[in-house]
Amino acid sequence: MNGHYTEIQLSQKSSEFSDFVEKFNAMSKQLSETTVSRNQLQRIVAERTEALRLISNTDPLTNIANRRFLYEKGEIELTRNQRYNTSLALLMIDCDFFKKVNDTYGHLIGDKVLQHLCRTFEKVIRSIDFLARYGGEEFVILLPNSNQVGAIEMAKRIQQTLKNSPLVVDELSLSVTISIGIAITDDPSTTFEGLLDEADHALFLAKKNGRDRFEIA
Ligand code: GH3
Ligand code: MG
Ligand code: MG
Repeated sequence: MNGHYTEIQLSQKSSEFSDFVEKFNAMSKQLSETTVSRNQLQRIVAERTEALRLISNTDPLTNIANRRFLYEKGEIELTRNQRYNTSLALLMIDCDFFKKVNDTYGHLIGDKVLQHLCRTFEKVIRSIDFLARYGGEEFVILLPNSNQVGAIEMAKRIQQTLKNSPLVVDELSLSVTISIGIAITDDPSTTFEGLLDEADHALFLAKKNGRDRFEIA
């Protein structure tokens, strides 16, 4: 019905019939209005569904993807990686001595540091890369179509860019460093959990070997 309705027009008057036509036209009009509001309702539901999807995928502090979304995207990228025989790299990033930032400057400044880290990562990564908050001060970046050389280059660029751009709040200029664990796969049997585990182990080594550095699984 498309939200439109057509009235019946009588060429000849008959009181009984015109009564019926009047009722019919009123009903058509009402039906047409119902159709319109159903369309509106469908649009509202679609908009709300999209808004809910965004909320459930986003970390509210940093405005980047949350862990839930990371797992969803990770599975998709892994499947794509297997299908096209490419190499997928994953960077697991952890802010060094972040507890000290909170203890020294307070939790609010700590929050600003996390936001600043994300804005810095976003500046460096490519549009096909995917950044997510993995936990408190831990982040993951998926690098589709990247081998070891590409992953190392990205890790270096992120660390260098962070060094060149400290967080400035009023008179305070705050520099933090990050440690990075890198895992790469072109093996079809790799699971996303497995890839995360490898990167986590490399990150552990980066911490153990002095921080402000990267290690490869
Ligand atoms: P390391 O170099 O070994 O990584 O040391 P670290 O101090 O960074 O690591 P640790 O795990 O001891 O501390 C992480 C801290 O991050 C503890 C926790 O309170 C803080 N944290 C987690 N989430 C948030 C957050 O959303 N905001 C702020 N301000 N702090 C957070
Ligand atoms: Mg940590
Ligand atoms: Mg840390």
